Amino acid sequence: MSTALIIGAGPAGLMAADVLSAAGHQVTIADQMPSVGRKFLMAGKSGLNLTKDAPIDAFLSAFGDVPDVFRDVIRGFGPEDVQRWARDLGQSVFTGSTGRVFPKAMKASPLLRAWLARLREAGVVVRTRHKWVGWDGADARFETPDGPQTIAADVTVLALGGASWARLGSDGEWAKQLSGTTPFKPANCGFAVNWTDHMAPFFGQPVKATALQAGDLTSRGEWIITKDGIEGGGVYSVSAAVRDGARLSIDLMPDVTLAIVKARLSKKPKKTSRQQYLSKALRLNPIKVALFNELTKGLVMQLPDGLGQAVKSLQMPLLAPLPMDGSISTAGGLTFEALDQHLMLPDRPGVFAAGEMLDWEAPTGGYLITGCLASGRTAGQNAARWLSQTP
Ligand SMILES: Cc1cc2nc3c(=O)[nH]c(=O)nc-3n(C[C@H](O)[C@H](O)[C@H](O)COP(=O)(O)OP(=O)(O)OC[C@H]3O[C@@H](n4cnc5c(N)ncnc54)[C@H](O)[C@@H]3O)c2cc1C
Repeated sequence: MSTALIIGAGPAGLMAADVLSAAGHQVTIADQMPSVGRKFLMAGKSGLNLTKDAPIDAFLSAFGDVPDVFRDVIRGFGPEDVQRWARDLGQSVFTGSTGRVFPKAMKASPLLRAWLARLREAGVVVRTRHKWVGWDGADARFETPDGPQTIAADVTVLALGGASWARLGSDGEWAKQLSGTTPFKPANCGFAVNWTDHMAPFFGQPVKATALQAGDLTSRGEWIITKDGIEGGGVYSVSAAVRDGARLSIDLMPDVTLAIVKARLSKKPKKTSRQQYLSKALRLNPIKVALFNELTKGLVMQLPDGLGQAVKSLQMPLLAPLPMDGSISTAGGLTFEALDQHLMLPDRPGVFAAGEMLDWEAPTGGYLITGCLASGRTAGQNAARWLSQTP
């Protein structure tokens, strides 16, 4: 029996462990935290969005410009496979109105419990509080509460995660140990805004029924005004473009055409303040009126054209991402150029890599977990194949 070592016990690592143990190998999982799957559990706190029920080509388009090797990874384990996998673990799933797929239990803990039970039954050994700190010859080197240790294995899958929410284990420190990495960047992140005091009453409140646009990306999702800036699903969907320098524009009335907005604005009664006027003529709610005032401060606008244009395309100033540790995920990490077409490190034969530690990004909406499960599965399969072909 060959031995397999998986380093990192998130969805990618657990999937690689599952595949390798099912192929009959003796699998050990090592993780630096006192327990496994902490980010996966956190992902379930606000509803574990496992995947998106979409045709594979539409699904793949959310991953942007990824190399073919990663497209093949997703094709090999797409939205339907993820749902089947969850059901096999005894978790019913349902599809929400926007196509997002969740386990009925909504949280991750029942799924993780069932998954770990299956791995335990297959003889997989889990070693927690093992921080991988590089290599000792061919063996993996760890810092543990009992001092430095090494683990030898015939194949290794690295599934060390990205570089956000470090307190859950995904601290990105592993990047120091590998060549072929590119700096991490926040993905699905919020942005800093220096609000005036007028916005304070709205901190923590959702902004609904807007359309956000940045670069090629658009979003109709809800977002939140916080004391530090803007966050939430709607913002995350356009965050890659904003992070890379595109301006964010907000349509406060996405279901109404500019012509209709202008027509409504052309009948301004005398002695009406702009505030009353915006809320009466356009029925903008107080948070949208406050946003409008905040972002058009000092601008002279013609009625109805200039004002109407601003309502349909409110310009945010250039925005800087909030600190990366708070972002849902990260781009950057181990580049695909540093791997061969089997997700193996060419300078370390028998060592494969998977999950968010690889340099790809996708919006929230189930794409991230699917990408991690799919690449964990491919890395596990390729590691098993490598074992069968290597004397
Ligand atoms: C609040 C929040 C909500 C989210 N919600 C969703 C969602 O609904 N849907 C979705 O698709 N995605 C969601 N995500 C993203 C998703 O959770 C991650 O993309 C996914 O967990 C990444 O999986 P992974 O296995 O690659 O890495 P991780 O889950 O980050 O696991 C990596 C593991 O490696 C371990 N590790 C790191 N370095 C070392 C080391 N040196 N030695 C040993 N072990 C190490 C860590 O302790 C960790 O256990 C969410 C993320 C957050 C933060």
